[in-house]
Order: sequence, then C-alpha cells, then structure tokens
Amino acid sequence: ETPRVPKPQWLRVRSPLSPEVDRLKKILRAADLHTVCEEASCPNLGECFGGGTATFMILGDVCTRRCPFCDVAHGRPKPPDSAEPLHLAQTVATMGLRFVVITSVDRDDLRDGGAQHFSQVISALRDHCPDLHIEILVPDFRGRVDKALTALRNTPPDVFNHNLETVPRLYLQARPGADYRHSLNLLAAFKAEHPDIPSKSGLMLGLGEELDEIREVMQDLRQAGCELLTLGQYLSPSRHHLPVARFVPPDEFEILRLDGLAMGFRHVASGPLVRSSYHAERSFHEMTED
Ligand code: SF4
Ligand code: SF4
Repeated sequence: ETPRVPKPQWLRVRSPLSPEVDRLKKILRAADLHTVCEEASCPNLGECFGGGTATFMILGDVCTRRCPFCDVAHGRPKPPDSAEPLHLAQTVATMGLRFVVITSVDRDDLRDGGAQHFSQVISALRDHCPDLHIEILVPDFRGRVDKALTALRNTPPDVFNHNLETVPRLYLQARPGADYRHSLNLLAAFKAEHPDIPSKSGLMLGLGEELDEIREVMQDLRQAGCELLTLGQYLSPSRHHLPVARFVPPDEFEILRLDGLAMGFRHVASGPLVRSSYHAERSFHEMTED
C-alpha cells in the first residue's frame, strides 16, 4: 500500500458557515435534495452557499463507470426520475440561488447519455427561476455526442463545462472509460454550435502530471475554443482510491493561472481548494461583462 502523505497546512482551511448557509441547508433537507457541495464536504461550501451558488447532481447517484479517483457508487442506475426537473427547480427557487451548476454521473445506459434530462432540468429552472444562471457540467457522452448535442440544442445553458480531469498520459490510470481526444472534441463541437456560450474545463493536479503536460492540455483546450479553466488539487477520497502523488504548492497554481491568462483563457480559477464549480458565477460574469 502506498503511504499516505499528510495534508499540508494550505489545505486545512474551511470557509466559515453563516445563518444563510443554515437556511439553505434546511430547505434542502425539507425537499430531500442533496448537493455535491454537502456530499463531498466541499471546503468552499460556506463561501458558495453564502454567495448563492450550489452544485446539484441529477440522474441519480449511481454511475455506469468506475474512475479510481471518484467516490460515486458504481452499478446499474435507476431510470431517470421524471419528477426531478420540477422538484429541483422549485427547490432552487425557494433557496433563491443566483447560480447553479448541474452535473450528473455518467449514464452510458441511456441512448443520449442523459442529455434530454439535462435539457428538461434547464427548462424547468428557466421557468421557475428567471434570474438564475445555469452551468452544466456534463459527462463525456461518449458514442452519443450527436444525440446529446441535439437534445441540448433548444435549451442552452449559460456555461458549458466538461472536465478533462488530467493529462492524456494518465488517462488509462485515472479515467479508464474515457478518451482525451473525445473529450476535447465534445468541447469543440459544443463551441461550434454555440459560439456565444462560454465553455469551460478543469483538471485535478497532483496525480503525477508534469507542469509542461498541464500547459499542453491548456493549449489543447484553447484550440477547442475553451475560455474558462479550473485547476485544483486532487484529494484521494479513501485509501481504496488513487493515491495523491503530490500536493502542488500554491505558488505553482499561481504560475499556471498566469500562464492560462497569457494563453487567452478569460478566467482561470487555480488553487489547492479550487473545485470545478468554485467561483463559477464570477468566471461567468467575467466572460459576459465586456
Ligand atoms: Fe459546491 Fe462547487 Fe462551491 Fe464546492 S466549489 S461548495 S462543490 S459550488
Ligand atoms: Fe465518478 Fe464521473 Fe467517473 Fe462516474 S464517470 S466514476 S461520476 S468521475
């Protein structure tokens, strides 16, 4: 077994909780809804909830894939819940959120990978929460990209996010069911259809990648038209998951952030505690302000 490296001090911070966070949690419990923010004990919860942002997982909590870095259960998922779009939209309206990130497990069992369900969720949110901005963080829709993009065509999100997660050399180890080029092509295909909608991607650092490999991925993303980027530290969910190869120090994250801006990304969130949805609203507004 690989010895576990103790967490450095810079990862042991949590944003403070507040009465607003309590209020939102009570609404979520009453609606029997769970956010990724709570399930993953995200260290940014106080900041995000306090600022009116949350991330929801739709299409259930059982994934058809098994990525060794991920804590989501693996198996045969249930059919999509047709009541979910309305229920989620009503809850988000009660919470009074300003920005939501909608994500899902991989649904390789569904013909469109679950894209139609994403579309129904977006419609319901638009109906019930007119001022809300919506980011979708989608699976790779491998083998189903045309169907998925068709399903999303009439209900575009405000931000389209698909994470590459790591550098191509580590895909076999970290994303065994995925393909680097395919994921890039998904981002490029969405951009070709919706040139005015910001697209976004992210990587977890600390899996054994080199800085120059990360820079190459960033260039590939720019080529695919991607404008927003997140870089954060990978944290192993348990000793049965992929171990952390390295804790990347904050100054390296800052170097990569500046590199990203120099490459033309409009916003780069880069730091040890950054998650795919961290500062999602801020990065969206930086795209749309000028
Ligand atoms: Fe939730 Fe993402 Fe914010 Fe974490 S960073 S609290 S997962 S919205
Ligand atoms: Fe986790 Fe996504 Fe991999 Fe499924 S496809 S195991 S949800 S990272």
